[in-house]
Amino acid sequence: MDEAGKHEARSGEAQLTMLVAALNALPMAEFLDVMRQVLPVQAANNADPAFRNDLMIVEVSTDQYDGEVDERLVAWPDRDRNGGGLGVYQGLWEEGTCSGCLSTVTSSAKRAICPRCGAPCGLT
Ligand SMILES: [Zn+2]
Repeated sequence: MDEAGKHEARSGEAQLTMLVAALNALPMAEFLDVMRQVLPVQAANNADPAFRNDLMIVEVSTDQYDGEVDERLVAWPDRDRNGGGLGVYQGLWEEGTCSGCLSTVTSSAKRAICPRCGAPCGLT
């Protein structure tokens, strides 16, 4: 690799480091809103045309005592039903069942959008 290539590689690594730091600094609601805008584009750009592919976030919780594992799809805060905002800034404290696809979902917002089927979810 020549000097220009080395500089370009360092510059790319520096940008990735800054991007990771920026994502890690986001409150959960904003992180989910960013992922809502990024994951479908990545899925479409990398999809096998013979399939519909979705990229989603799944929260996996393992009970430290009995080892029981729970998996929940992480639903996107619904800006349309949160007055243009992202709802309450909190962790993934809301939970429920999607009325569209019956997946167990969680989100930071009580009013969220299922990442699997796009149905509005009312979580508690
Ligand atoms: Zn759903």
